[in-house]
Amino acid sequence: MEYIYKVETHLHTSQASACAVNTGAEMARASKRDGYCAIFVTDHFFNGNTAIRSKHYSWDEKITLFTGGYEDAKKEGEKIGIDVYFGFEYNNNGAEFLVYNYSADKLMEYPGIMTDGIERVLTNIKNGGGFIIHAHPFRNEYYIQNPGRIYPDYVDAVEVINTHNRRKEENARALEYAEKYGLIKFGGSDSHSAHFQEGGMLFPKKPESVKDVTDMARRGECIILGKKYGGD
Ligand SMILES: [Zn+2]
Ligand SMILES: [Zn+2]
Repeated sequence: MEYIYKVETHLHTSQASACAVNTGAEMARASKRDGYCAIFVTDHFFNGNTAIRSKHYSWDEKITLFTGGYEDAKKEGEKIGIDVYFGFEYNNNGAEFLVYNYSADKLMEYPGIMTDGIERVLTNIKNGGGFIIHAHPFRNEYYIQNPGRIYPDYVDAVEVINTHNRRKEENARALEYAEKYGLIKFGGSDSHSAHFQEGGMLFPKKPESVKDVTDMARRGECIILGKKYGGD
């Protein structure tokens, strides 16, 4: 089998992430240029490094603004031929989770996502059909309180290579975590600009849906990119 279909699982846009440099459309073009057939736009949610900061918006208005980077990427993707999926990166004091298959409409119905405890949030997302990946669980940076807090009973998958992590050990420990608990392995670039991306996953078949991606990952039908950032 040839693993030729490259997917970016973790990507930010400047419309919604304060730390990102390029717009959704620019990120879609850069990803196409770099050979990806699909991307997940996973902007920082309101409890992370969000670009949606005014207190004057209603919850629904905030969610609509939040999807701006995704919508921009999606529109461009339709023009240039790259699939764009909606996701978000939920933050709990530095423990961050990529969520797929949980729509803006579902977010509009769940403002309690900002105040519920983390176990309840993860449970509610799962019950709502969401797929949860613990992103860079062992990243150790100034903005993370208690790095290494894990939730093996609440997540589907672990990001075992994040090419944005600064230390190999952080990815090596994530891989150990996934293997110890039998969690699905994911990898991503955590890309914040159109400059370059080195991570993501390769699949033997072009995914036509979020479920295709998560099913192939579950079966281990994938190659996780960025080995040089990993532990062995
Ligand atoms: Zn960021
Ligand atoms: Zn991220």
